[in-house]
Amino acid sequence: MTGMVGNRLETIVRPDAEMIPQLAQFDAQLLNDMNVVSKVFPFRANRYVLNELVDWSKGPDDPIFRLIFPSREMLPEEDFSALDRAIQDENKPKANELIYKIRHSHNPHPAGQLEHNRPRLANGEIADGLQHKYRDTLLFFPSDGQTCHSYCSFCFRWPQFVRDDALRIAMSDRTLFLSYVAEHPEISDILVTGGDAFTIKSSRLRFYLSELLTPKFDHVRNIRFGTKALSYWPYRFTIDSDASDLLRFLTELSEAGKHVAVMAHYNHPRELQSDIAQSAIRAIRSTGAVIRSQSPVMRGINDSADIWSDLWQKQIGLGIIPYYMFIARDTGPKQYFEVPIARIWNIYSTALRGTSGLNRTASGPTMSSFYGKIELLGVQVDATGEKSFVLRALRTRHELNDYELFTAKYDETASWIDDLAPAANAVWPAGIQRQF
Ligand SMILES: *Cc1c(COP(=O)(O)O)cnc(C)c1O
Ligand code: SF4
Repeated sequence: MTGMVGNRLETIVRPDAEMIPQLAQFDAQLLNDMNVVSKVFPFRANRYVLNELVDWSKGPDDPIFRLIFPSREMLPEEDFSALDRAIQDENKPKANELIYKIRHSHNPHPAGQLEHNRPRLANGEIADGLQHKYRDTLLFFPSDGQTCHSYCSFCFRWPQFVRDDALRIAMSDRTLFLSYVAEHPEISDILVTGGDAFTIKSSRLRFYLSELLTPKFDHVRNIRFGTKALSYWPYRFTIDSDASDLLRFLTELSEAGKHVAVMAHYNHPRELQSDIAQSAIRAIRSTGAVIRSQSPVMRGINDSADIWSDLWQKQIGLGIIPYYMFIARDTGPKQYFEVPIARIWNIYSTALRGTSGLNRTASGPTMSSFYGKIELLGVQVDATGEKSFVLRALRTRHELNDYELFTAKYDETASWIDDLAPAANAVWPAGIQRQF
């Protein structure tokens, strides 16, 4: 551990050796590659992440290095070399054109996010910045929370971080949000998300959410905050200037009878290691909020059973409840991080075998797809030795198919629901049927 962790948030937006002295150990080619890719996918880091999370002795294969830094393999070779050339030639218009084109070829809003679930008020007004994802759950994207204290290289929300307005969804006005929630008594859960809900100042969180404590909003029982600040900037909960007010606000929400859930994004056990990370966890738990954890499985970051076993057991020890293991969705540099579903099943089941029930709260590997959430329940082998995947519709758009089971042909290379086909004689739930 270095003693020199700055505890003031200083963000670093270019992966170059001038700003990040540790990068001087790498060759010029790698540095150039990172610079080129960071023009397409945004880069952001801070001293805590660089000094405390990355293990520089492991070089570019370090899991946290891969989590933070861009890599050449994230772009198709032809896109990479075209952009590299435009940058070498200092041809800015060409570079910008390529950046725009490449971003849009990366499925920036997967699962139909922009077109679907776009709520309207009773007066017809469209409430951008809200997504009525499931009947009971409303996602709220405050405009001041559409960033993170550091960025994950695999992030699918990057369109919200880059200044490309056509790709953004966010809201700065609380009136639309509150009117919509008031009009919908079926909403029990509000999920404040981004980006990172805890990049928002506590005074602004109060501005958006305090009204929810009035009787008009008794139907809102659960308030969740999607965050990675526990990993990327734990000082948010300890010595940031409004840390104590944030903790007070969470306490007030809990004491008013709301269930407060901090949906923490943890990819690797190292994120739980530092004293400051553990103090932040204790601080949040002292407010009455529950911390639940989720993460996708990513190649080269956490694609091993040992890592997940360690991650979940450490979380249990710290009072964090494992919630979702995600199968990475089809956006951004997906190929680079892709892990086949069959391997993910091995990782999940091996990680949990030999652990007690308290460790087993994470649902099976889950795809948050256009059709809704689909959980992988296992691999089934029939009397002839034929294998199939057993899947469960967990949360479908209109709830009609929730909890229905279905099976798909076993396929060692498939990595997403769209790669799967029904097993022999299997019928898929109506909400999940596709054109084959
Ligand atoms: C899973 C998920 C939610 C919340 O659903 P729960 O199953 O209630 O946790 C919200 N938004 C997205 C995009 C999700 O994938
Ligand atoms: S913490 Fe979440 S939203 Fe933020 S960069 Fe990482 S994946 Fe994206």
